[in-house]
Amino acid sequence: MEYVIVGSSAAGVSAVEAIRSVDKSGKITVISDENYSIYSRCVLSYYLAGMMTEEKLKYRGEDFFKKHNVDSIVGKKVEAVLPGKKIKLSDGKTLSFDKLLIATGSRSKMENIPGVEKDGVFGLRNINDARKIEERLGKTKTAVMLGGGLIGLRAAYALHKRGLKVIVVVKSKHILSQMLDEEGAGFIQRRIENKGIKVITGLSAKEITGDKEVSGIILENEEKIDCQIVVIGKGVQANIELVKDAGIKTEWGIIVNESLQTNVTDVFAAGDVAQTKDLVTGESTINALWPNAVIQGKIAGLNMAGKNIKYDGSLGMNSVEFFELPTISYGITKPKGEGYEILVKKNDAQEIYKKIVLKNNKIVGFVLVNDVDNAGVYGSLIRKKIDVSSIKEELLNNNFNFAKILPLVKKYKEEFAEKEYKELVM
Ligand SMILES: Cc1cc2nc3c(=O)[nH]c(=O)nc-3n(C[C@H](O)[C@H](O)[C@H](O)COP(=O)(O)OP(=O)(O)OC[C@H]3O[C@@H](n4cnc5c(N)ncnc54)[C@H](O)[C@@H]3O)c2cc1C
Repeated sequence: MEYVIVGSSAAGVSAVEAIRSVDKSGKITVISDENYSIYSRCVLSYYLAGMMTEEKLKYRGEDFFKKHNVDSIVGKKVEAVLPGKKIKLSDGKTLSFDKLLIATGSRSKMENIPGVEKDGVFGLRNINDARKIEERLGKTKTAVMLGGGLIGLRAAYALHKRGLKVIVVVKSKHILSQMLDEEGAGFIQRRIENKGIKVITGLSAKEITGDKEVSGIILENEEKIDCQIVVIGKGVQANIELVKDAGIKTEWGIIVNESLQTNVTDVFAAGDVAQTKDLVTGESTINALWPNAVIQGKIAGLNMAGKNIKYDGSLGMNSVEFFELPTISYGITKPKGEGYEILVKKNDAQEIYKKIVLKNNKIVGFVLVNDVDNAGVYGSLIRKKIDVSSIKEELLNNNFNFAKILPLVKKYKEEFAEKEYKELVM
């Protein structure tokens, strides 16, 4: 059996381990266009902040591929999936496969504004981006982040830690608009502003100025801001180009079924590039998050090696901490439409905000700012789709904890079938 995996990050690495757990001898080839060891991009901003060495980014040893008897091709791009179970590499060579996994992830969505090509304008997606930003720190006083999402704010936090003046420019009404509601985001915005990061909302940049190198931006309201670094954090787009002429169905990402197989037999996709069912909303979407990529890579790998494992869906869960203010969001945080019930508890002085979104007495989402202890409990109630009407009044109480759901664990034995729950209610 010849397995080919394109991409050697969260999904690709997890697939290698899964395949090898079943098939010890099949030939595995992993191709990556990055010329670097296996590393976690989730902690790139800590590296950029100077809080973590480059060595610490690597979450698998340098001998990973050798240990798993894998042929690793680095620094080459897979340009196309060809008919007849072949792929074409950037050096013109072709490679055959019996089973193919596309784990090409996503890339920073660069804005289409004048000046975006200037030196000093970056995304933050890979180690090269982080290194290039770092190289420029010496000649930078002010950095502007275009976008107030997770990556933009992480970059802002990192560059603030490196002593730069940092300005975040957000088109939406509030920061973290994909992840949080306005009120929850307000707590984070106030904290980062108090620490010295300026946030401009409701505006975007219409031009990046400078000759060859960036010297500033002009906002929609004509305000000019001098800066020497611009980081674009406007979300990501899936790397799907390689399947363009392969008859593989795509939308925002590559569409896969419950087995993580595309519409073309023996071609699988996993991770940020794969469009799967959202476990909470049931919609077909991409929840571009590391744990989703790892689980998808694992299931795709097992299925490539002959197992028949179903993927139940991806989860939209985000966890961040800026200036010691931990925040977790999960599922639907800004419900649209009928039938939702919202519970909120907040304490402005303590900067605590907790919101739970319910539908038909089941939790479908939550936001927790500065009191995140029960995130795991709420998360399992969401995943198991448990009717919480009997404990609804207690959900946001200060003394709420796992013990309060034990009656539900007893009642919904099938849903809580895992060993750890069984032991608890014996
Ligand atoms: C700065 C930052 C912080 C993040 N923080 C978090 C976090 O806190 N929590 C969280 O859950 N997630 C976080 N994420 C998201 C997380 O990193 C991704 O969800 C995860 O990396 C997806 O893994 P993947 O294997 O699908 O793809 P990727 O990690 O994107 O890897 C895909 C690989 O394939 C390569 N590739 C692409 N196209 C080709 C091609 N044609 N040929 C060969 N190789 C190709 C890419 O260069 C890359 O190496 C963060 C991401 C970034 C950038």
